[in-house]
Amino acid sequence: MKQASEEQAKNQSNHWNLEQATYLYDIDRWGRGYFYINEKGHVAVRPVYESDQSIDIYDIVMEIKARGIQLPCLIRFQDLLQTRVIELNEAFRQAIIEYEYLNVYRGVYPIKVNQLHEVVEEIIEAGAPYDFGLECGSKAELLATLAHLDRDDMLLICNGYKDQTMMSLMLAGRQLGKEVIPVLEKRREFDELFSVAEAMQVKPAFGVRVRLTTEGSGRWAESGGEQSKFGISLLEILDIVNILKQREQIDAFQLVHFHLGSQMNDILTVKAAVREATRVYAKLVQMGIPVRYLDIGGGLGVSYQGTRSGREQEINYTLQEYVNGVVYTVKEVCDAEDVPHPVLVSESGRSITAYHSVLVVGVLAATTRATEQDAIPIEAAENDHESVSELLDLNRQIDEDVDLSQVLEIHHDAEQRRGEANLLFSLGYLSLEEKAKVEQLYWRVTRKIVQRIRGVDEEELPDDLRRLHLLLTDQYICDFSVFQSMLDHWAIDQLFPVMPLHRLNEMPTRQGVLVDLTCDSDGKVDTFVDISGPKPYLDLHAVLENEPYFLGFFLMGAYQDILGDMHNLFGRVNEVHVYADREEPNGFYVEKFIPGTTVEEAVQLVQYFSSDLKKRMDKIVQRQVKNKNLRAGEGMRILEQYNAALTESTYYNFWQNGVPRLAVREVVEAPIESNGVNGATRLAAGAGNE
Ligand SMILES: *Cc1c(COP(=O)(O)O)cnc(C)c1O
Repeated sequence: MKQASEEQAKNQSNHWNLEQATYLYDIDRWGRGYFYINEKGHVAVRPVYESDQSIDIYDIVMEIKARGIQLPCLIRFQDLLQTRVIELNEAFRQAIIEYEYLNVYRGVYPIKVNQLHEVVEEIIEAGAPYDFGLECGSKAELLATLAHLDRDDMLLICNGYKDQTMMSLMLAGRQLGKEVIPVLEKRREFDELFSVAEAMQVKPAFGVRVRLTTEGSGRWAESGGEQSKFGISLLEILDIVNILKQREQIDAFQLVHFHLGSQMNDILTVKAAVREATRVYAKLVQMGIPVRYLDIGGGLGVSYQGTRSGREQEINYTLQEYVNGVVYTVKEVCDAEDVPHPVLVSESGRSITAYHSVLVVGVLAATTRATEQDAIPIEAAENDHESVSELLDLNRQIDEDVDLSQVLEIHHDAEQRRGEANLLFSLGYLSLEEKAKVEQLYWRVTRKIVQRIRGVDEEELPDDLRRLHLLLTDQYICDFSVFQSMLDHWAIDQLFPVMPLHRLNEMPTRQGVLVDLTCDSDGKVDTFVDISGPKPYLDLHAVLENEPYFLGFFLMGAYQDILGDMHNLFGRVNEVHVYADREEPNGFYVEKFIPGTTVEEAVQLVQYFSSDLKKRMDKIVQRQVKNKNLRAGEGMRILEQYNAALTESTYYNFWQNGVPRLAVREVVEAPIESNGVNGATRLAAGAGNE
């Protein structure tokens, strides 16, 4: 039977091509040309700006395997960071020329989006020709960024609440000749900044975060608007202006800033906010305050789901459209107000970093429903309970040309018959044979129903049938933790593109959800990108004996790969940094390997220290040896094993002596239940991106 279904799959593969795979996974849209499916049926990346240089991700997986690096592994395409920096700056350059804007763009990178040193360094390097700067939002970020102001013309924009230490460091930065600009979040910070500056005898400079009336759109709408926890009101700004005039320090006020929240989904909101902030800038200039910079904050979105339908998470504009909208709007307002065009600053983090990292995960097992026995004929014996013959009848009915309402009726009848049989069995009135037949017939008819409704629009399906669909999807058990690597998927239902990294020239014949290694029923991915909107399963290939199966999680670079949580003590994953290089046989080289958290490091975070653990294990072993429950040699072996495991990664060892842990196919008859433990404090945690 198994052979027959594989044969069938092969035949279907004949009608399958790479274009269909490209369409199915919607890779052209979310991949924006950086990711595509190559002729081998592998996902490949074109990371270099204006170049067709390409890297096959499967080749990287093989290379890191050869180096003994375990999965899960995060791959950083450093070239893609450069590319995004260039594209953002070039977009502004183009718009500035096109609209005859009479000033320049000097963007900054907000490091909270991904603080990893190599990421920040790569962005600084790529941004050098454009005077691209940095943004920080906390004390730790300030110290990290201040030391990276290699060039005097880089801006360092300092957002967030500031204490005296931070204020004096920002002023020290100015003493060093750096363009450090604290952005005042509260009226009180103005007085504090000036008193610290006076004590240090440094000329202060600052910007102001304006509280706009325009509210953001999308998930982080509350970062802006009148209810925002950030920002200074217009009345307070006027007060500041008066004080500056009295003290003859008007040139300290250098920047007008706003930030409406990340992943702004509507270009009209962006333009409205820019218009309002530009008015504030213009009025200040007209009042004699020579503000130099207009800082439009972050919020430039990334298209994760590929559709342009304006759903909550989805953006309705492109990078160039955003930039054009900003440049045009600022120019228009300034010209109308007859004030000079300001230096434009933006704080785009997500848009720069999202694309550059890909998480590679191995599938450990696939749990699927048994179908092998479907072809075995079942007949009702003479004294079988009537539910057997009823279910046989339902199996015949569903084969006929039935409409949706009839399908629903068949489903309800099957449910009823099965319920009846279960009850009778538990009361002792049904034989094991009868019960087995009922179960088998029930699942047969259910599978046929699912096949019948495949392709029907989710919206049109009655609830009972929609649930069935989910009941029959496979579970693919993956070697990773959602809480460590995809926190926003769990916390805010953020959608990320996920797809197989290989076998894309074969038709995927399974539909599944992905579950992780944690003992938490929330540790799963069950919403996926689809061309017509999110869908509750991913199209997958049946796992094959003796072959590993790899999935790629894409667009992980913004907030995710840095925000992880140690649920179940699964720590940071291994990480490699990859550069494109035409000279190399496969077109790339691995520049750096950063090992993930070891077991020893993970437990230490919760105050278990390996020396103590080892001592305790030693004691247990000694006692058993002394009591003659264990031979001394065995005891030593156990201790060695324990000590060695402390230095391993917290994940499942995917490669064992260079051989992949093969995905096994676990076949179950009954529906797969979720694994018990309730979702943890989902609401309490949330994710930290504003
Ligand atoms: C988070 C944040 C950003 C980055 O926003 P993105 O949408 O990632 O570009 C920029 N500025 C401020 C003040 C922020 O809080």
